[in-house]
Amino acid sequence: MTEQPPENPTETTSSTVGSEATPHLGRLLLATLVLCIPVVLVFAVLVADGDISLRAAAIGAAVVVILMAVMLNQHFRRVRALTRYLIRLREAGDDSPLPPAPSGGDLLSPGLSDAIAETARQQRARRHDLRDTMAMNAAVLAGLPDPLILVGENRRVLRLNPAAGALLGQELAGRDLALGLRNPSLLAAVEAILEGGEQQAVEFTIPGKVERSIAARVLRLPMAASQEARLMIALYDLTGVKQSERMRADFVANVSHELRTPLSSLIGFIETLRGPAREDPEAQARFLKIMEEQSHRMSRLVDDLLSLSRIELQEHTPPEGNSDIAEILRSVASTLELEAARYGMRIEIAAEALPPVIGVSDELTQVFQNLLENAVKYGEEKTVIRVAARPLAKDGAGERRLGRAGVKVSVFNEGEGIEREHIPRLTERFYRVDSRRSRRLGGTGLGLAIVKHIINRHRGVLEIESRPDEGATFSVYLPSGGAPALALQRAEPKAS
Ligand code: ADP
Repeated sequence: MTEQPPENPTETTSSTVGSEATPHLGRLLLATLVLCIPVVLVFAVLVADGDISLRAAAIGAAVVVILMAVMLNQHFRRVRALTRYLIRLREAGDDSPLPPAPSGGDLLSPGLSDAIAETARQQRARRHDLRDTMAMNAAVLAGLPDPLILVGENRRVLRLNPAAGALLGQELAGRDLALGLRNPSLLAAVEAILEGGEQQAVEFTIPGKVERSIAARVLRLPMAASQEARLMIALYDLTGVKQSERMRADFVANVSHELRTPLSSLIGFIETLRGPAREDPEAQARFLKIMEEQSHRMSRLVDDLLSLSRIELQEHTPPEGNSDIAEILRSVASTLELEAARYGMRIEIAAEALPPVIGVSDELTQVFQNLLENAVKYGEEKTVIRVAARPLAKDGAGERRLGRAGVKVSVFNEGEGIEREHIPRLTERFYRVDSRRSRRLGGTGLGLAIVKHIINRHRGVLEIESRPDEGATFSVYLPSGGAPALALQRAEPKAS
């Protein structure tokens, strides 16, 4: 679809100008003589018949030859001017003004110069339209987020848009498509279209560090669309969609599994209470206690699921208002004091003069409730859980990490700690280092996922540090009030 340049303009120009410089005089003489032959013959006959004298005939013939030469010279000059005009038209740049038409053109044929000038104007307008359309097409192709490839005969890649270049490498242009996309079903679809098919849709995967799932549409192009391009391949990256489909399926499977266990135990106990244990008050009391625990477990799971979905919905809206972190920590610690005491544990809070934190108190309470509950659940019995809260040092590592002024709250517990490889996954839903232990201790596997999403919403950072047998520290960085606009931070756990 590119504009064709004039075929070797230098050569054509020089040959035309050359012919103009060549014996113009010779051609003029030759044409004059040829055109005067009949007149000379007429004079010869008149002389032979004695109608006029030889002298009169010679003078007459000479006058006719001279007149003819003058007229022909004029004519040739106009044709040359017209030829020069046409050459200038052809060589004029698309943006330079069109050369003026020579005056002699209309003497050769009425309206000739105007017709030539109008044709030249129309051609130029069409070229401009074509250039604009091509620029727009190129911009649309470049702006498309999905990869697009134009393929010609023999599967040769003619053009890739930037998205396709990023996926397959720009160097694929001009080469066989199979060098970039080896998938047999895609290549078969391309062959089918090259042999006359209309369109095909295929799905395939591109192996690599991260395997990509791709949907491709192969479409035949009308021959007029481009002299070379025979078909177009539009690719759509399904990796994200497939991944979220998988995550959704995993999530549903996990939730069903978590609910099924307490449900089947409840059903089992109900049957036992109606049957064998009907007359056994001691067994009844024991079973009812277990049923109560299982019901609480289901209720906790449902509560956590609801919290998670509510927080996820709000995650993109930054919180408003200020919260007093020291107050939140004290209130959470007092609700957990009894539980900690059951394991001979104590919670100690050290809170320096803290600025107010930008956040919703209820949500921040849930963060520290979950972290402290975990410290009690997974910490060593008869030890102290230490909570330290302090403002971030100006220009210190914490402030750089958060991207602004804030506070850091660390919850430390002694205990067996967490192996390094588990740390990055702890905030995934239902991920547990030891599922049986978590369930036995009443865990739902959602506590840290909730923590992560709340901290994300608060534009904070979660850091997890642990070494086996040395316990674990969960640190939360939160922006404090009154500082410039918040930079979005992700609360992905960092191992150390
Ligand atoms: P759970 O309900 O299982 O406690 P969480 O999401 O709160 O779920 O925690 C996920 C997992 O992280 C836990 O099952 C546990 O293996 C590990 N974990 C969390 N907190 C601690 C901690 N303070 N010490 C050791 N391991 C922890």
